[in-house]
Amino acid sequence: MATQLLMAKSPEEAVNNKTATAAFLAGGTEVNRLGSDIAVKADMLISLKKCSGLSDITEADGYITIGSMCTFQDLIESDTVPCYLKEAAHFMASRTKRNMATIGGNIASLRSDSYLIPTLMAVGAVLEMEGNNGSCRIGIAEYVDRSEADALITSVTVPKEIKVISRRFANTAQSHAVLTMSAALTEEGIWLDGAVKNVGLLHFCDLEKAFREDPDISEEAIIEMVRVCTGLHTADDMFGSDTYKRYLIAVTAYDLHKRLVGKEV
Ligand SMILES: Cc1cc2nc3c(=O)[nH]c(=O)nc-3n(C[C@H](O)[C@H](O)[C@H](O)COP(=O)(O)OP(=O)(O)OC[C@H]3O[C@@H](n4cnc5c(N)ncnc54)[C@H](O)[C@@H]3O)c2cc1C
Repeated sequence: MATQLLMAKSPEEAVNNKTATAAFLAGGTEVNRLGSDIAVKADMLISLKKCSGLSDITEADGYITIGSMCTFQDLIESDTVPCYLKEAAHFMASRTKRNMATIGGNIASLRSDSYLIPTLMAVGAVLEMEGNNGSCRIGIAEYVDRSEADALITSVTVPKEIKVISRRFANTAQSHAVLTMSAALTEEGIWLDGAVKNVGLLHFCDLEKAFREDPDISEEAIIEMVRVCTGLHTADDMFGSDTYKRYLIAVTAYDLHKRLVGKEV
């Protein structure tokens, strides 16, 4: 159980004190969540609350850079943050939690019901990281594949003008989502990413390929494609059957694609 609290004054101080048994503390909604073992396993928590330079939101050359300590409510109230990211921030229904939870903490939590990661992946967000070897920039997809627990996310950069649609499916606004999916339209075609509860954070490249090769592909063909997909490891659990989850992924992907390309269903 954590017995020490360090109030880091800078990202460098936070990173220099990070060890295998220390954990960063941002809004604390995941670290202190009932059932979370982060604080139990740590001997020291490194609070980022007083770290300089982690709460700015700036705009340059069509991109918005958001400090990792910006809360979900900061995103919603900002005049600069794109609407598609505000929509994803609204997936966190509790305003009390939105006032505490940060964008950096949400990304680092890498939850399979993540509120923000599907949207950030679909738009190709880039993370600025501070580690023991200095700072670097990596794409969020790379971070999801090989997150470095000791590195600090200092900011997240997203494009301002991009068409994005997101959907979240849960029993109630406060319940865990079985599926959160985001689709973005770029010059290369559709980008499709999702969070499937108890499965993971997924980039739906086969579906993207199918939509890019045949924009008029039928809903039945997409449903069948996902039904037989061997690379998708969904299973029966309290969030629904394997069959239901595959069907939901397929019809949601089809719906998002149609809406993005302007043929609403
Ligand atoms: C009742 C309840 C329900 C929830 N439901 C959901 C849900 O459906 N979906 C969802 O996504 N989340 C959910 N959460 C978890 C949490 O609220 C969010 O993920 C939140 O965005 C975490 O942000 P935070 O600032 O509170 O992170 P913290 O709790 O402070 O930290 C979370 C993790 O990220 C690390 N971390 C924090 N900041 C950084 C940084 N800048 N760089 C590197 N590592 C960092 C911490 O060390 C820790 O491991 C839920 C929490 C509660 C209490």
